[in-house]
Amino acid sequence: MARKIGSRYTAHQILGRGSAGTVWLGEGPEGPVAIKLLREDLASDQELVGRFVQERTALLGLDHPHVVSVRDLVVDGNDLALVMDLVRGTDLRTRLDRDRRMAPEAAVAIAADIADGLAAAHAAGVVHRDVKPENVLLDMQGPLGPGGSHRALLTDFGVAKLIDTPRRTKATKIIGTPDYLAPEIVEGLPPRASVDIYALATVLYELLAGFTPFGGGHPGAVLRRHVTETVVPLPGIPDELWQLLVQCLAKAPASRLRASELGVRLRELLPMLAGMPPLEVDEPDTESAEESDREEQPAGPAPAGERVRRRGAVPLVPGAKPTDSNRDTHTSMRVPAPDELAGGAHGTARAPRPAGAPRPGSARNRAATRRRRVALGAGAVALAAAIGVGAWLTTSDDDGSAPPQDTQNSAPQTP
Ligand code: ADP
Ligand code: MG
Repeated sequence: MARKIGSRYTAHQILGRGSAGTVWLGEGPEGPVAIKLLREDLASDQELVGRFVQERTALLGLDHPHVVSVRDLVVDGNDLALVMDLVRGTDLRTRLDRDRRMAPEAAVAIAADIADGLAAAHAAGVVHRDVKPENVLLDMQGPLGPGGSHRALLTDFGVAKLIDTPRRTKATKIIGTPDYLAPEIVEGLPPRASVDIYALATVLYELLAGFTPFGGGHPGAVLRRHVTETVVPLPGIPDELWQLLVQCLAKAPASRLRASELGVRLRELLPMLAGMPPLEVDEPDTESAEESDREEQPAGPAPAGERVRRRGAVPLVPGAKPTDSNRDTHTSMRVPAPDELAGGAHGTARAPRPAGAPRPGSARNRAATRRRRVALGAGAVALAAAIGVGAWLTTSDDDGSAPPQDTQNSAPQTP
């Protein structure tokens, strides 16, 4: 089912689908390419087309081994297509679905690649805004890197940004993917380069743990956790690596590392991580932890099959196909009010358990949760949220289980 795209390209078969369109394996004058064809209803939006053309310079200007290069932009009738380098391999989400978690060396090698790619993008004035495993491609034809990892390339630049035009997205809307959204976006601030660092740290945590630090449950609950909860250490993680993660997951954007420095620091850790097996952590039980916290259920073993993680699958663009929903987790919702953010807030994210440790629904954990709640009244969090992230320190370190994040010192980031 070959299809002509403009006068120079032919699309042959579908490689992948996202919310904005379909990616095809195609052929151009210089050989095989990947062609991302925007959905027809979006491609016929003249303003969108105008913005897309405007973005071309930045997209074409990005030439880096860890960024999927955009070669061409085709505007032809109702077709609007980005022609990209073809990456022969898979995306990181597919890999995670298969392996659940990665050995630290390979995970850090992949994160370092993405940090390098982001450094190039940020230097070119481009904020990705949608860093997540779905948008990281693994080149399975090239040589293997540390820990047997494949070279990682960041893709899907600009389209999320493109869709998020002032006309389409009011200041009160959030566009992004809940699990990877930096707290300042939830609070309505404009996204800077540091949002990509937060998202990348979230991806690295996910590669190591098998789940994201603040994900699980309703998208609104996920957004609230980004603002109000502190990430808790992963059992068995080397301290140097943990400190990097904590710094890049800081609530205050200026406390996070810049992409170039993050890349260097991650690569410095590689020799130390060589040969280390994947971490043994069980995913915390979001649903039952939140339930038990609210309802004060009596102690007892958590029912089997309780660990259901529902990803917030709200389409990025109106009318996105339901078939996308398991692969695309964009959300588009208004910025929550401070009191909504504070509702039922915990001071600390669901603690990952070492394999075999008691479930969060156990009596021991409920007692700990109650202690936290006493220390961290909803009013205090509402106040902190109203004042802004600067007040975070005073509320986040209530149970002493995690270091205060914003005291990590680093050069202020001015993207
Ligand atoms: P969307 O903007 O719709 O999310 P993406 O650019 O993320 O689209 O691409 C969707 C999927 O298509 C990716 O997850 C990947 O599986 C595949 N894909 C995208 N770009 C390429 C490429 N350059 N080479 C090979 N496969 C690709
Ligand atoms: Mg994508």
